[in-house]
Amino acid sequence: MERVRSVRRQVRTAPAASIDDGWALRRISGLEILTAKIFGSIPWLVHGFSTRKGGASRLNGAVALNLGFTDWDSREAVTQNRITFVRAMAASKSGPKIGREKSLITLRQIHSDVVHVFSKAPARPPQGDAALCCRTGLLPGIQTADCVPILLADQRRRVVAAIHAGWRGTLARVVVKTLGRMRLEFGTQPEDVTAALGPAIGSCCYEVGPEVAQAFAGQFAQAREWFEGPFDRLATGEEPNPLPWLTMMPPGHEPPPERVRLDLRAANRWQLVDAGVNPRNIAVSALCTGCRSDLFFSYRKEGAATGRMMNVIGIRVNSR
Ligand SMILES: [Zn+2]
Repeated sequence: MERVRSVRRQVRTAPAASIDDGWALRRISGLEILTAKIFGSIPWLVHGFSTRKGGASRLNGAVALNLGFTDWDSREAVTQNRITFVRAMAASKSGPKIGREKSLITLRQIHSDVVHVFSKAPARPPQGDAALCCRTGLLPGIQTADCVPILLADQRRRVVAAIHAGWRGTLARVVVKTLGRMRLEFGTQPEDVTAALGPAIGSCCYEVGPEVAQAFAGQFAQAREWFEGPFDRLATGEEPNPLPWLTMMPPGHEPPPERVRLDLRAANRWQLVDAGVNPRNIAVSALCTGCRSDLFFSYRKEGAATGRMMNVIGIRVNSR
């Protein structure tokens, strides 16, 4: 009997899906939460990247942990999901004594470089895309469904940040501006910072047009390293010799406009290293929200009727 029980326990705690080295998928309170092992050595830290598993929402006939207020979902379901998620974070073995739902700090995200510093949870989420905090018991979080969630921890000064970086935020260097604000407010040195870039749309699934290529080329000398496809041609706006196409294609059958594929996580990782963060202190998930719709919501793949993940980082109460 004892043996059977231990086998069952093993099965129950086995990873539900294959994920990368350096990351763990933990089942807590019926949810599955992704964690970065790189944060494991910081005893006062709690963090997690939510998945769509579990929850009170119904999406396409299945339960879903939708943590963002969307048109298709009820306010009650999302509120319940947030309570469950925050409690799960509090219940994790390495977790905080963050049990109160009001410890969660969210933003009205606008794809900007606006950074907020919090010493308590605000009555209303302000507009912005990065949340900084040095107080215990708070849980700054950002919502994603393809954009890159970036969590930062300054080990020495004990400051944490959650950042939302889509292509506009990446272009605006929101992660660098967050590091700058950490230095200004708390004296953070980049070499003390540990970073984790969570699940996001991968270059496999993230086609963008010439306007994005041109914008990145105008901002970053290294931009072509983050793109696959005819980046140089699109970035310079040169036409790919239109004559063969115009003469061969019947009207209405012109080839679609050329696209390139963008690796947002590579661009943000580069910005962190360029700002002085040690590459050894940066963990980058390889999980693509577009490819892994079993685990994540993807706006690109599912459109407006999809949910939002929540990505949080905080300082434990009573930590030393
Ligand atoms: Zn993909």
